[in-house]
Amino acid sequence: MTAATGYRGRFAPTPSGPLHFGSIVAATGSRADALAAGGEWHLRIDDLDPPRVAPGAIDAILRCLESLGFAWDGPIVYQSRRREAHRAAFDRIRRSAPVYPCTCPRSSIARAGLPGIEGPRYPGTCRGRRTDSDGPSAWRLDVRGAPIAFFDRRLGRYVQDVESATGDFVLWRADDIPSYHLACAVDDVADGFTDIVRGADLAASTPRQILVRRWLGAPEPTWMHLPLVLHPSGEKLSKQTLAAAVDTTRPAAVLRDALAFLGHPVPPALTDAPTSELWSWAAEHWSPGRLPPASDPSGTGA
Ligand SMILES: [Zn+2]
Repeated sequence: MTAATGYRGRFAPTPSGPLHFGSIVAATGSRADALAAGGEWHLRIDDLDPPRVAPGAIDAILRCLESLGFAWDGPIVYQSRRREAHRAAFDRIRRSAPVYPCTCPRSSIARAGLPGIEGPRYPGTCRGRRTDSDGPSAWRLDVRGAPIAFFDRRLGRYVQDVESATGDFVLWRADDIPSYHLACAVDDVADGFTDIVRGADLAASTPRQILVRRWLGAPEPTWMHLPLVLHPSGEKLSKQTLAAAVDTTRPAAVLRDALAFLGHPVPPALTDAPTSELWSWAAEHWSPGRLPPASDPSGTGA
């Protein structure tokens, strides 16, 4: 089904465990935004890195989403099955972009001691190398140049100097797996997503994905990064902070909580409504202006 509006959105969980409430919030915001726009909403499983896929996690994610009344357009895309497309895109980028092989171990990057937003950033040691004669190499993109800016529907103008944030980042890993940023950008382009709505923890990744998209000659989508659900300690919910899997025995309550977190508390008359009615209400009432404001645009927002 092609939506009249042309809006195409997606939710792309990494199956490293069951969905926690923070993931449900991101999925809810992304689908509500698509429904409100009369658009399509797709599901992609970012199972790029086989060792990180927890056994049973993909089934658990699908069952959880179905129990909460999520429905997606088209077939589910599995990143692990898109390897050839990822490789073709990487080869295409390599033909024109400043991409170079790097064999630096993590320890030498750490020793260089350059601070970055995700730990020590890469100091550019291997820039200028063009062949990978020293065995398996990661392939990095030289990111020197103007800062990357984009407009986010919630965060506003976001600017990041990628070189000082992360340094030259990896496009293709030494273990012959595409990097997350490459795969994510390539698949978003391939599926023609017009609107990328996801958690604010990914805002700092967006400039790297924009760089990949530009080297592919792809148009830029519209971005919106949703507020994060924080652990009482202030940390983002994740498997590491032991976020509990959502309680799918009470699906309507979970969906109501997610909508309330996103600034859309459902009216009391819908307290006992099934998820289908909650989704209808969300499609009708969704308004990004009601999202909690960005008090701390993560990291380098400006
Ligand atoms: Zn290197």
